[in-house]
Amino acid sequence: MSIQVFGMPVSRGVAIGRAVLVASSRVDVAHYFVGADRIDQEVLRLRAARDAVAAEIELLKNELPAEAPHELAALLDVHLMLLHDDTLAVATKGWITERHYNAEWALSAQLEVLARQFDEMEDAYLRERKADVEQVVERLLHALTRGERGAVDASAVSQAARDFAGEDPLVLVASDVAPADMLQFKRSVFTGFVTDVGGRTSHTAIVARSMDIPAVVGAREASRLIRQDDWLVIDGDAGVVIVNPSPIVLEEYRFRQRQSDLERARLNRLRHTPAVTLDGHAVELLANIESPGDGAGALEAGAVGVGLFRSEFLFMNRAGDLPGEDEQFEAYRDAVVALQGLPVTIRTVDVGADKPLERMSAQEVRREHGLNPALGLRAIRWSLSEPGMFRQQLRAILRASAYGKVRVLIPMVAHLGEVKLIFEALARARAQLDEAGRAYTRVEVGAMIEVPAAALMIDRFLRHFDFVSIGTNDLIQYTLAIDRADEAVAHLYDPWHPAVLHLLQATITRANQLGRSVSVCGEMAGDAVFTELLLAMGLRSFSMHPARIAAIKQRVLRADTRLLVAQMEKIAGADDPAEAWRQAAQGRVSH
Ligand code: PEP
Ligand code: MG
Repeated sequence: MSIQVFGMPVSRGVAIGRAVLVASSRVDVAHYFVGADRIDQEVLRLRAARDAVAAEIELLKNELPAEAPHELAALLDVHLMLLHDDTLAVATKGWITERHYNAEWALSAQLEVLARQFDEMEDAYLRERKADVEQVVERLLHALTRGERGAVDASAVSQAARDFAGEDPLVLVASDVAPADMLQFKRSVFTGFVTDVGGRTSHTAIVARSMDIPAVVGAREASRLIRQDDWLVIDGDAGVVIVNPSPIVLEEYRFRQRQSDLERARLNRLRHTPAVTLDGHAVELLANIESPGDGAGALEAGAVGVGLFRSEFLFMNRAGDLPGEDEQFEAYRDAVVALQGLPVTIRTVDVGADKPLERMSAQEVRREHGLNPALGLRAIRWSLSEPGMFRQQLRAILRASAYGKVRVLIPMVAHLGEVKLIFEALARARAQLDEAGRAYTRVEVGAMIEVPAAALMIDRFLRHFDFVSIGTNDLIQYTLAIDRADEAVAHLYDPWHPAVLHLLQATITRANQLGRSVSVCGEMAGDAVFTELLLAMGLRSFSMHPARIAAIKQRVLRADTRLLVAQMEKIAGADDPAEAWRQAAQGRVSH
């Protein structure tokens, strides 16, 4: 039977494919595909983990004190039996050999299957055995992570992707996906994403958008209602997932898919047209990237530079082993070289909140670190608390400047005290490079305006920084006190809120008056709904996922800023600026 699951649309378009469920686990579980040549090795890893757990349980049993209740020994026997039972051992192996899942993923996928079977059992005693299976799987996962970790290298993933070619398209369904895992999936085979949790600007949603594939987040029940291999339609425009659609519905969506492919091809023709408004204002359309490998795609999409390189993705997924100066330098240099002389704005590491270093989802971060990670030690706060690491990153960025035009961007600055420390760190990094005889050139230094305090002190900030970039994702989160990763308050996350518009307008106006470059690199920049509004505010530089550039350029080419500024005046003081803007736009069109 066909059902519909509702969530939030975060990445447009229609995806049709079979569901691949990624279970969440209390253990840090890596999800990746293993290439055909590594399957045997992966099965051996699983077997070694099973032997290790069996030995562990035997040892526990032998060491049970004489006075221990005999149920305990019986329970350990049950665990041993489960460990060797076909429904776990053989089926898990099947996920590896048939689907090319890594051992940890295979185990958690099989746990998901078994957990559902237990949930459906009539007998309460049997139902409770689910906890035993969970414990056994958890032991196995621990044993796997203790042992040699399966390599998560991009070439194996692409090989696995090629092995899949020709089969049904796949759609990923998960309770939540850690940003680090999302990045792994970026080089993978999924044609769409569905998650139970997350908000429109959660980092998981952002990575999905950067992949330019349809995604729905905050679809609360999705991972419970959808089963492995179900056929899914993801309507990324409406935020709906249709599970096992009827042939008529499927045909309708296939039609829409063809339409949007045509529309995309049409927009792509604008790729190399300069973005100039009808009244002659040149507008800079830049790319947001997550890895040096995204550079070529940015150029291809017609970006005139990189406005935001989220360097934190280089730091994730490394089990605490952070990238050294040379490794970072090579990554930044590769991005700079890929951009062929166009500017590359490298943001210093922005970890914390919903972008933990470890492979954790936002939910898990809250569970582990508690309280309000968004208000905690993230972004520049974290960098300043690790001065050696910060200077190392600055040296790596400065060294890349010898290969092209580099700008440094500092996330989440809020205090002038931080500004002082940032420039001291830069001065020391330069001195260290001089001492080592390393080449670098002058780089502009900019601040992200993403905390209301920064927007309110823009004048003072601009005494120190060469440019600013407005991070609307965080600026909205912090202005409205809405956790951007929390779907429960997602309806309150409102870019049209008068307070947000006020801070945006004030920042853009003041930077323009002072003759400093200002851009927006949050998700608003790539959302065509806001293009005209931002142009009316005086913004002339937008940074977004490369896939959004053509659509935004189309808006720019059709805009007349003189009319837009007049339209802007009509919404000043409106209680509902979104509605007032829409009505003013209608008036503009009908005149
Ligand atoms: C922002 O906050 O708008 C931004 C661009 O940074 P990030 O989304 O990486 O926090
Ligand atoms: Mg931010």
